[in-house]
Amino acid sequence: MITKYYPYILIFALFLVIIFIFLNRQKILQPPVSGNLHTHTTCSDGNNDYETMITAALKLNFKFIAITDHRICPEIISKCLAETRIYCIPGQEVTSNRTHLLAINVTKSINPYQPIDKQVSEIHAQGGLAIAAHPYVEKFKYTTVELTNSGIDAMECTITPDEAHPLPCIFTSDAHRASALDYKFLSCPSPINTFSDLKKALLFHLCSRSFSPAIYPLHPTSFQTD
Ligand SMILES: [Zn+2]
Ligand SMILES: [Zn+2]
Repeated sequence: MITKYYPYILIFALFLVIIFIFLNRQKILQPPVSGNLHTHTTCSDGNNDYETMITAALKLNFKFIAITDHRICPEIISKCLAETRIYCIPGQEVTSNRTHLLAINVTKSINPYQPIDKQVSEIHAQGGLAIAAHPYVEKFKYTTVELTNSGIDAMECTITPDEAHPLPCIFTSDAHRASALDYKFLSCPSPINTFSDLKKALLFHLCSRSFSPAIYPLHPTSFQTD
């Protein structure tokens, strides 16, 4: 009896498959892209200059990189904004005695000597994202209130998302040298060519952790964190 409906069931299933492919066409057709959102140059305490960091990022086939020195360096910001080889995002690691906060997509200095919610407001006023840097490290630990009530957009995570704080995770190596860029980095849906692309991918929890398989499992804490 039911066999007469088989062709209709088949057509409906085919229809669902086509819809699925259409909705996920970007994911299916384009592989994810990689990048690192926490890097330092010789402008602050990094070991390599801007050009060396970018050259290394290109070798790793990264499509985006944020330069987050401990202070705003106008020369680096100009180079980053004019960069054509990779999507370069200017930033600052807002560094106080107690906490470090990544300001992504800012070009003017954020004052670290104020409460975190005020730092976040300054970042948002410039159209940037505020991301808690290495909040899991004892020395720089955020309080729960700071993580949840300061308007922070995302946080750096170690291996897995922090169950106590359901903020979007970013994964970085806090690279102070070019060779550390791929210790731990982000993999996001393609394309990440604009800040809007990046913001959407991060805030919708679409980015995941990648790392150099040769290094990270052996020395998970070998990268510098500051
Ligand atoms: Zn730091
Ligand atoms: Zn850092």
